[in-house]
Amino acid sequence: MKCVFCGGKLERRNVAFRYEEDNNYFFVEEVPAEVCTSCGEKTYSPEVTDKLLKYATEEHKPTKTIEVPVFSFE
Ligand SMILES: [Zn+2]
Repeated sequence: MKCVFCGGKLERRNVAFRYEEDNNYFFVEEVPAEVCTSCGEKTYSPEVTDKLLKYATEEHKPTKTIEVPVFSFE
């Protein structure tokens, strides 16, 4: 499989997925993805995408909670 953006080589890797919508943020660690070795674009399989979206819509207890510093760029 090739990267749909640049045609680069895809490599299977576990990545951290970041979800961001309105004021809802979360990370999912160790997500299996195909990562482009040229541009770094991540591609998830349909099964993985389904599962990731469930974290956004269903009640799941997080493994841990991290604090994220927020800055205003002024
Ligand atoms: Zn690419």
